[in-house]
Amino acid sequence: MDYHGRIARLRSAMAKARCDALAVTHLPNVRYLCGFTGSAGVLLLGEKNSFFTDGRYAEQAAKEVVGAKVVIAKGPALIAAAKQAARMKRGRLGVEAEHLSVSAYDAVADVLTKSIRLSATRGIVEGLRTIKEPAEIGRLRAAIELGCDLLPVAHKAIRPGVKEVEVAAKIEFAARKAGAQSMSFETIVASGPRSALPHGVASGAPIPAKGFVVLDYGVILHGYCSDMTRTVHVGRADQEEQDLYRAVLDAQMAAIAACAPGVKLADVDAAARDVLKQAKLDKFFTHSTGHGLGLEIHEPPRVAQGQKEVLQPGMVITIEPGIYQAGKLGIRIEDVVGITETGYELLTAARKELIEI
Ligand code: ZN
Ligand code: ZN
Repeated sequence: MDYHGRIARLRSAMAKARCDALAVTHLPNVRYLCGFTGSAGVLLLGEKNSFFTDGRYAEQAAKEVVGAKVVIAKGPALIAAAKQAARMKRGRLGVEAEHLSVSAYDAVADVLTKSIRLSATRGIVEGLRTIKEPAEIGRLRAAIELGCDLLPVAHKAIRPGVKEVEVAAKIEFAARKAGAQSMSFETIVASGPRSALPHGVASGAPIPAKGFVVLDYGVILHGYCSDMTRTVHVGRADQEEQDLYRAVLDAQMAAIAACAPGVKLADVDAAARDVLKQAKLDKFFTHSTGHGLGLEIHEPPRVAQGQKEVLQPGMVITIEPGIYQAGKLGIRIEDVVGITETGYELLTAARKELIEI
């Protein structure tokens, strides 16, 4: 991982935001910038780079942290970082507005002298993280492959009468055995009418004898998240169900085909939405088309209506249109796509034709 390059890019982003120092508190950002994988620590980028943590992490920080001096703080790491920043004669200390509580913000302000201004920054590190390095794409690829390998486990577990949570447990057990650190979010197994819930986490409901089952899950492998959705059908799908599935698949493939450097994210979203509109199904597509992923399951950019930002080589996004008919059925198909210099690469290799179980 290119920690030095990341810090260099961050320094120029800080200069643009007119910050003389930045206290990074969001742990995925901390990990991205200096390699620390523990659950408590603050990275201060000031005149020099220091990483503050507590005694529990002394050994781990010494081993992992790259490009910053490790400081074991007696009190809260954030206060220790603020005290060091306060040694600047004057200037602006940036904090991550989206990741700092109001009380933590006040505590930092209390430590600073009047000549240092506190500045609320938004998405500085996340902006850098949208462009993945080849090593990160390698890790994402491995996590996605593991996710795809779990699909046969899910198919085997899905039987009428089996509880959704039992299917989820089998997927998760196989994931851990295969080396996943954890799942990247709560596994979704939504069957029958529950498939109409776009975020239907596995429940105690039994799989019905007939109908769609939406499976949406991901693993974390070497810190990087995978995310995939497949919808299968228990029993024979009738013509209407087959047509609905085909429309979602066509929408998904249209959005994937629209991916290329320079294309607006809103236009990728529109590619999926237009296909569903032609089939008069767009009113059932109630969420955005996709999201970035990496160290976190949901990262910028958003593939959504109104997003003027353009795709760039190195971005990795999901494409996951779906339709949801309340009380009846839901269908979603989700793959991960990497943006290349010339177009895109589909990173999720699992088949997408409708499978009947
Ligand atoms: Zn998903
Ligand atoms: Zn997703």
